[in-house]
Amino acid sequence: MIYLDNAATSFPKPKSVQDEVISCIKSYGGNPGRGSHALSLAAADKIYECRAALSELFGLGAPENAVFTLNTTHALNTVIKGALRQGDHVLISDMEHNAVFRPIYRLAREGFIKYSVFRTFPDRPDLEDNILSDISAKLTPRTRMLVCAHASNICSSVLPIRKIGELCRKSGILFVVDAAQSAGHIPIDFHLLGADAVCLPGHKGLYGPQGCGVILLREGLTLKTLTEGGNGVNSLEGTMPELPPERYEAGTLPTPAVAGLLRGISEVSRLGIDSIHRHECALYEYARERLSELDGIKIYASDRVGSVLLFNLEGKSADSVGDALNGAGICVRSGYHCAALAHKTLATPPGGAVRVSFGIYNTLADVDTLVNALRTIKSL
Ligand code: PMP
Repeated sequence: MIYLDNAATSFPKPKSVQDEVISCIKSYGGNPGRGSHALSLAAADKIYECRAALSELFGLGAPENAVFTLNTTHALNTVIKGALRQGDHVLISDMEHNAVFRPIYRLAREGFIKYSVFRTFPDRPDLEDNILSDISAKLTPRTRMLVCAHASNICSSVLPIRKIGELCRKSGILFVVDAAQSAGHIPIDFHLLGADAVCLPGHKGLYGPQGCGVILLREGLTLKTLTEGGNGVNSLEGTMPELPPERYEAGTLPTPAVAGLLRGISEVSRLGIDSIHRHECALYEYARERLSELDGIKIYASDRVGSVLLFNLEGKSADSVGDALNGAGICVRSGYHCAALAHKTLATPPGGAVRVSFGIYNTLADVDTLVNALRTIKSL
């Protein structure tokens, strides 16, 4: 089996991650923060170590500002719904995943907020400055937040988020970054970015297990809580604690996933995010060159090099190509990738397109196998 669906979740997970999850559920997985016995304390230590590792990797400062959630979607919902107030206006990009679009859309449909969509020109890297002018043109006196994906999940387009962050700060609006496709793939420095919150998955570019996401929160930012419940802190009070992380962590944490994520972060740090990025870009460039040998192939936004490549084969539906590749032992994802807005921006046809997404374990030989399989599929 060749796995080329790392944008959905990375696979396989490093051996150290697998071993840590097993060790957690076999040897020390008490409920963190729920008692003073040895196994609860051991689990709490792992959770803290993972906050510290995240803080170090992303230049966050205080580990307490790394909040655990179930996944990126939960992290984004927590921040978006925790910060917005009745009558606010929000800016989102035209490349958003449903994890951003749907919460915003629902709040807008209910009349709670209004939103506008700014353009990102994903197939025109030369138009980067136009993104900033479009944002400026769409700001209103009621704009309170800009939320956008750092890197797209359907192509390798990356937004100039440092410049966007500067613009948000100058305009006095909250800046929320969806780093689902960039964390672990592209270096991120929380302070240079100037974001109020960065939401990211444990299970993609950081090579942790499924089951946990993260919010990196700006020091001093307080949100309304989305979920209330127990966490072992201030138990006699009816309200959630005031400070992160416990303010946003109601209920039992996914300790095995967090413990595994700690090892995933070690692995990513050992390899170096710059070198992971170079590896993925090299695979992209090779794939673009080899795929271009096929007649009737359309690669979207192909001037953007990174870990995600999107294509269609003339005369074949995206799903039929995805199914045929699965039959040939190659895992890709076809369709709309939970990102209808982004597909509209790239003008993919009905049925969407086929996505190939690389990770640390992919090789040039995987690309050769993909191209050979597509040659056969094309001839059928
Ligand atoms: N945002 C983007 C850009 C994504 O690619 C994804 C995952 N496909 C998400 C958000 C949602 O991530 P999760 O599955 O961790 O909730």
